[in-house]
Amino acid sequence: MDAAEIAARLDAVRKRIEAALRRAGRAEGSVRLVAASKMQSVQMMRAAYAAGVRDFGENYVQEALAKQAQLSDLERIRWHLIGHLQTNKAKVAAGAFHLIQSLDSIRLAGALARVRRDPPAAVLVEVNLGGEGSKTGVAPNQVEDLINAIRNQVEVRGLMAIPPPGPDCEFSRRYFVQLRRMRERLAAACGLALSELSMGMSDDFEVAIEEGATIVRVGRAIFGERPR
Ligand SMILES: *Cc1c(COP(=O)(O)O)cnc(C)c1O
Repeated sequence: MDAAEIAARLDAVRKRIEAALRRAGRAEGSVRLVAASKMQSVQMMRAAYAAGVRDFGENYVQEALAKQAQLSDLERIRWHLIGHLQTNKAKVAAGAFHLIQSLDSIRLAGALARVRRDPPAAVLVEVNLGGEGSKTGVAPNQVEDLINAIRNQVEVRGLMAIPPPGPDCEFSRRYFVQLRRMRERLAAACGLALSELSMGMSDDFEVAIEEGATIVRVGRAIFGERPR
């Protein structure tokens, strides 16, 4: 994949995002595209940056830190942590990300707060919508208690979820609806804005946008299949 191809694929993704926003009657530009760049080279990321991407999502703290060092010349780049964060990595992660999208425990919030208070780390609470399937994220019935327990330690900006795998993008819709309703209920119950809803990946980001996503995390549709 060369720079021109990445630019073309990005252009196609952006058009699909704008079309989904129009279908849903939502404002142009009301979704942030985070390029999920795990396992992708810094050359590919530079190509995406040159084509206008400013938000990159990484899954592993070590990989993110190595890439940050190599891409330190790129101005106004924003790093998101979208993969699971272990408590023993919280100390390094606390200062390294614009937004930690995978907060799923009180322990982790406490570890972040110990190294970063003013301003506190910005986080999304990851919700495990599928139940059994994935091991990360908080069970839906525990999200409110978690938010109330961590709200004075970190800045909770909203919710993130990865629906369980399904046969097609429509399968994800019910989970996106569930996350949107959960956000509405919790914003009222907790008295917080919780303005961010991070949901939707390469195979289902248009459905996610129709259901209210404010952040989509797209990897393969931009960069192609991940190298193994
Ligand atoms: C890899 C990943 C993505 C992007 O997935 P694609 O299918 O490549 O678009 C989004 N979110 C998370 C949490 C991921 O790990």
